[in-house]
Amino acid sequence: MESGLSARDRVGVQDFLLLDNYTSEAAFIENLRRRYKENLIYTYIGSVLVSVNPYRELEIYSKQHMERYRGVNFYEISPHIYALADNSYRAVRTERKDQCILISGESGAGKTEASKKVLQYYTTMCPTRNNTQSIRERLLQSTPVLEAFGNAKTLRNDNSSRFGKYMDVQFDYKGAPIGGHILNYLLEKSRVVHQNHGERNFHIFYQLLESGDGALLKRLGLDRTNPQQYHYLVKGNCPRVSSISDKNSWKVVSKAFTVIGFNEEEVEELLKVVASVLHLGNTQFGEDEYGETHLTTEMPIKYVSELLGVEGSYLSEALTHKKIVAKGEEMIGPLSLEQAVSARDALAKAIYGRTFTWLVQKINQSLDEVYYTSKCSSVIGLLDIYGFEVFQNNSFEQFCINYCNEKLQQLFIELTLKSEQEEYEAEGIGWETVEYFNNKIICDLVEEKFKGIIAILDEECLRPGDACDLTFLEKLEDRLGGHAHFVTHKLANGKIRKAVGREEFRLLHYAGEVNYNINGFLDKNNDLLYRNLKEVMCQSSNQIMKECFQTDELTDQRRPETAATQFKLSLAKLMDILMSKQPSYIRCIKPNDAKQPGRFEEVLVRHQVKYLGLMENLRVRRAGFAYRRSFEAFLQRYKPLCPDTWPNWQGKLSDGVSTLVKHLDYKAEEYKLGRSKIFIRFPKTLFLTEDALEL
Ligand code: ATP
Ligand code: MG
Repeated sequence: MESGLSARDRVGVQDFLLLDNYTSEAAFIENLRRRYKENLIYTYIGSVLVSVNPYRELEIYSKQHMERYRGVNFYEISPHIYALADNSYRAVRTERKDQCILISGESGAGKTEASKKVLQYYTTMCPTRNNTQSIRERLLQSTPVLEAFGNAKTLRNDNSSRFGKYMDVQFDYKGAPIGGHILNYLLEKSRVVHQNHGERNFHIFYQLLESGDGALLKRLGLDRTNPQQYHYLVKGNCPRVSSISDKNSWKVVSKAFTVIGFNEEEVEELLKVVASVLHLGNTQFGEDEYGETHLTTEMPIKYVSELLGVEGSYLSEALTHKKIVAKGEEMIGPLSLEQAVSARDALAKAIYGRTFTWLVQKINQSLDEVYYTSKCSSVIGLLDIYGFEVFQNNSFEQFCINYCNEKLQQLFIELTLKSEQEEYEAEGIGWETVEYFNNKIICDLVEEKFKGIIAILDEECLRPGDACDLTFLEKLEDRLGGHAHFVTHKLANGKIRKAVGREEFRLLHYAGEVNYNINGFLDKNNDLLYRNLKEVMCQSSNQIMKECFQTDELTDQRRPETAATQFKLSLAKLMDILMSKQPSYIRCIKPNDAKQPGRFEEVLVRHQVKYLGLMENLRVRRAGFAYRRSFEAFLQRYKPLCPDTWPNWQGKLSDGVSTLVKHLDYKAEEYKLGRSKIFIRFPKTLFLTEDALEL
């Protein structure tokens, strides 16, 4: 803890619980700002770590730093992500309780960097056993591979994760990391075929083109001299990014493939898939004089069929026609030009999306296979998932992402309050209720069976006939109009609400209002791939495609789950996983939109403080007892302040603490003694005690 008032004035308090005016958002932000100016990017709210992206490399992540944080308590030295990592690790070692670290924040706030730092801490600091060296490497190297395929340059972040990731690190009973497991969520597949201005496709395409060796590119039919020729890469008009070296990344990724255990053929098969997506994007269509759609390009389809090992003519046919079953008979019908283009894009998205999932599975096998003989004792899960998003134009993707954030917020509320309550109960201390906004009502609005937005969307997706995005919106209006958190342009008095467009609905999220444009909702939710394209892919001789497209998909009569329902189910599973663990939180904040060091934009920060629920979190912690310490830790630290406890207290720990606080003149309302811990109500009490230590 910083000593003296002047230091506190300069660098602020290292725990928001110590703020005098804890209900003031302005004081909260001022504290963040002061610390940020001093490059102190970490601050606690009790056990929650708040982190502000420094946008510069800080000298605080060395092995020496890691060692300083081993075994220390939060308040002993300055806040750090290593303290949080170590805290979870100690709980795993001593209590054998599974932990999870939930990292949240908006795009570019530093979630992925935070998760890498935590992983680095474990792989560097945890004990090694003879056979665990390679698992460490594998855990670390899984990241560059997934980033190459799942991250992209966006307007907000040059290395934006376009998928959600939950990773378990498994430890044996001695605390050595012995394996891991990754779950991936909702890759933003639409990026494969379209990027907004100033954005790029997934990194791997540029890395391969820029740095793949000549012979390889030749085998893949790719030409690096003119990357602009690939239609799927030029939509954002942004081939290069100054902060990214595609060359270096390619080297890192190539090495990572080897570490994870890919052999040369597997890497080549994978790159063939990547290249085939680019060729597919260059497949063009035209209409003949009878209005029939046909391919106007030859080479791209030739490459695709070679690379994926499928029959070229069969593929061309499937891209321009679709199979319809009418009166029990199969008929082939032509696709319009527009339909052909969207069939092509759907195929590219399916190939890429399924390959990404395959890649995750492959990494999981590699994290699994080596030491399956060692017994996993406990795990620490790391969740790095997309933060709340509000763009100019919000679509199905933002709807899913923001729904995910509602769920995580709900979990946060439940667990923060629940764990507080449980601790008071366990220690035999009265619980005081705290008012908070329970966002369950919004979660229900989205996910409730039969009634929620997802259910209505699925209903429209299944309904034959005239179902379209607009009929979906009408149904939403019919069924949800009047809900406190759902709004459309129609006002109850028949007037028009200007702030919501005619093709939009607005949700009042816990974090703010978002208008969603319904265009594309049905298509994206259906995520359909025409049957004959599936049939072609099922015949592929490419090993990866063989695993991604299997014939039982063709014979299965059941309709596959829609995208939103799949997402809902996977989120429900994630919630179960997280609920079974002890959580820690890292709340990441982005200080400016320009990705620049040293710039702290208050308006931007205030918005994030609000939607991360930080003020509420602080209020909850302060409403009860701001601090709690085990008797042992409390005595150990403050025993020099009392002659009876110094140098050592011989009797019962609780008596020692009692003697100590009486000597320190703590008033009855300032503290309570539980069964194993002392609870201190006001930060100031502890603060003064800390100051006394410094004297
Ligand atoms: P997204 O949701 O888009 O994936 P994110 O929250 O994962 O965003 P990161 O990719 O972790 O954001 O961070 C964005 C960039 O900010 C990094 O590429 C890096 O340049 C910088 N950055 C983040 N955290 C740190 C840090 N602790 N030290 C130095 N730079 C950082
Ligand atoms: Mg990220």
